[in-house]
Amino acid sequence: MAAAVVSGNVPKHSLSSSSSNSAAPVIGMSKTDIVKRGLELGAPFQLTWSCYQSEKIACGACESCALRLRAFARAGAADPLRYADPGSRPA
Ligand SMILES: [Zn+2]
Repeated sequence: MAAAVVSGNVPKHSLSSSSSNSAAPVIGMSKTDIVKRGLELGAPFQLTWSCYQSEKIACGACESCALRLRAFARAGAADPLRYADPGSRPA
């Protein structure tokens, strides 16, 4: 994919500038894409969350938790994280 960018005339500045774009996979990705990619890579999702309410157990009710749960649902995966609100758990 990246090879198509440098076809034809190559501007001088592109030769000296460092190309670090490929090292930022998260930028431009949706939350669902991040979950999918993380699952592919075997990311430890049980160790990560960004709950607004709690630092011990994710509340499962705040906007951040809802976003995460929705992303997992769209990715067709189960969130391994424990949530304080049992009502939000699919099982
Ligand atoms: Zn929360």
